[in-house]
Amino acid sequence: MTTTPDIVTRSADPAADDPMIRISGVRKSYGSTEVLKGIDLDIPTGETVCIIGPSGSGKSTLLRTMNHLEDISAGSITVDGDLVGYRLKRGKLYELRESEACRRRLEIGMVFQHFNLFPHMTALENVTFAPIKVKRESPAAATEYARSLLARVGLADKEGSYPSKLSGGQQQRVAIARALAMRPKVMLFDEPTSALDPELVGEVLSVIKDLARTGGITMVVVTHEMGFAREVSDRVVFMDAGTIVEVGPPAQVFDTPAHDRTRTFLSAVL
Ligand code: ADP
Ligand code: MG
Repeated sequence: MTTTPDIVTRSADPAADDPMIRISGVRKSYGSTEVLKGIDLDIPTGETVCIIGPSGSGKSTLLRTMNHLEDISAGSITVDGDLVGYRLKRGKLYELRESEACRRRLEIGMVFQHFNLFPHMTALENVTFAPIKVKRESPAAATEYARSLLARVGLADKEGSYPSKLSGGQQQRVAIARALAMRPKVMLFDEPTSALDPELVGEVLSVIKDLARTGGITMVVVTHEMGFAREVSDRVVFMDAGTIVEVGPPAQVFDTPAHDRTRTFLSAVL
């Protein structure tokens, strides 16, 4: 059964210190199976959060709820003050039409395990496509920005290459540039290196690290790369069985975990 989230009011002038992402009491079921069992998490603007945890713990589901890709059974999520999945009008909640959910989705970049570039477009065309077609940017402006993004991900010399001529690591870097081209407020990464050969993982992680250091973008990264999570995160979230077991700065979660479940997970993966 789907229950609407509690009404969340948005002040006319959201305080500068409101979190970019606010997740409150979020529950999500598939049929009779509850896969998110009451998630609370605030992510301040500009913060990089890594989510770690065993397979099936709900990491992808949580990420997808933030991007209007899944509805929730209870609780609420706001991104930059906007209620995910719902709109508040004269004190009443209305479910977003798909068109409006799509529009909000444009403000959130998402990078998946499988990069899914458009195979018949060059790297440059992959990056300029949405800005031109969806945001109606001029081709000249979109191309100029796309070139700067391809340079940023280390692919300035590959703008004319088709995906089939690029390595997995290069394709994933194009996918990151493509997401950034929409100038998102938030970037969500779901195991961005899990499909890559081991020797290609580093080049993608270093691009994400660079974004975290210089971006000012709020980032949520689901990852199994513990060294990366330690280095890049402002905070690490450990999830297990649909709950957040613990959250803290990486040194705390990795070196002095507060819970047995975290210790058990870390000793299996480190
Ligand atoms: P993780 O990303 O941590 O591996 P997921 O969020 O993908 O975990 O999945 C959490 C749980 O939800 C798992 O038990 C999974 O089988 C289940 N699940 C995920 N997506 C669906 C779906 N579309 N229908 C039914 N069950 C699902
Ligand atoms: Mg997953």
